[in-house]
Amino acid sequence: MKLKAVSLFFAFLFLASFGVDTFTKTEGDTPVLIKNEVKHRLTEAYEGRKKEKPFCLFGSGDKIKRISAPKITSTTDTTATWETKRCESKSDFLGYVHNHEIAPIPSKTDEFRFALNDDSEVELIAYHDSGEVSFYGYYHE
Ligand SMILES: [Zn+2]
Repeated sequence: MKLKAVSLFFAFLFLASFGVDTFTKTEGDTPVLIKNEVKHRLTEAYEGRKKEKPFCLFGSGDKIKRISAPKITSTTDTTATWETKRCESKSDFLGYVHNHEIAPIPSKTDEFRFALNDDSEVELIAYHDSGEVSFYGYYHE
C-alpha cells in the first residue's frame, strides 16, 4: 500500500514536470499550447534576459512542438533582426517568439512584421511577470 502511494506520487511528479502542456494567455478565446519541454527551453533562454532574442516556432494547429534559433543579422540594445527564410520554408513553421522586458504588448515593428507575414500564424511574446517568464500569444486574424 505504501509503495503504491509512493509510486503514484512519483508518477504525479513526472507528469507535472514533463507531461503537461502550457496554455498562454491571448487576446482571443483560443490559447496557444506550448509543449512542456519547449516551454522549459524558452524559460531558460529568457530568464533574466534583457536583450531581444527570437526563436522560430514549429508545430501544428495551435500547438508549439519545437523551436529553433534563427541566425541574428543585427541587434541593438532592445531590438534584433534575424534571418527568416530557413524557418519559414519548413512546413510546420508557426511563427516567432521574442522577449520584452515587462509588458507583452507588441511594438509597431512587431505588429508590422507579424501583419505582413502570411507564413506566421502565431506570435508569442515572452515577458517577465513578477520575476517569472510568462508568454502571451497573438493569432493572425
Ligand atoms: Zn517586440
